[in-house]
Amino acid sequence: MKKAFFFDMDGVLFNSMPNHARAWEIVMARHGLHFTQRDCYMAEGCTSRDVILNTYHAQQPDRQVSLDDVEEFYREKREMFVELGGAQPMPYAYDVLQAIQAAGRQIWLVTGSAQVSLLDQLNSAFPGIFVRERMITAFECPHGKPRPEPYLKAWESSGLPKDECCVIENAPLGLQAARAADLYTVILNTGPLVYNDFAPWKPDVFLPSMLAFKEHLPQLLNE
Ligand code: MG
Repeated sequence: MKKAFFFDMDGVLFNSMPNHARAWEIVMARHGLHFTQRDCYMAEGCTSRDVILNTYHAQQPDRQVSLDDVEEFYREKREMFVELGGAQPMPYAYDVLQAIQAAGRQIWLVTGSAQVSLLDQLNSAFPGIFVRERMITAFECPHGKPRPEPYLKAWESSGLPKDECCVIENAPLGLQAARAADLYTVILNTGPLVYNDFAPWKPDVFLPSMLAFKEHLPQLLNE
């Protein structure tokens, strides 16, 4: 029986990944870099700074990239993301969150994001669910996924045994982080990846959508 649920944000609570992937692809191309939407999904969880620096390093190794260049690049990417329509709540996510809350279980957000407007965004998409004390963000945990620290911090703060906690993720690096923290993990494969992209870290449950998770949820709450 699971008593605490640790939700990733992008690609789980918000259907934000298609526009992130598109925005990266467009802005990378503008800078003469090749970066596919699949590359974006595989890199999900890395900081944006690392995505930019790693891509330059691989494709234009002689180019000197300053921190100002990285900041400017990231600003362009954020603007493109907004221009493309930003993020909408994932269909059925609010139903799932309400069912968990009604069962009296803990709900946590565990994200590498450092958006200051995050709580407002969560409160307008999912009213009455998230509280600041149960949010692990880049502010609480600068060492992000795929390192285990964000999930370990949520687990320690929950006060529960590990086998009563459940991570909900959509990204290979997020799964890697949850596995390194030795936590039970459900993958919602809401993007274009396939099982083999996740297989090395053996998810406990592998589902295609939030709707499928809604149907699976009673097992986690009751068994
Ligand atoms: Mg995600």
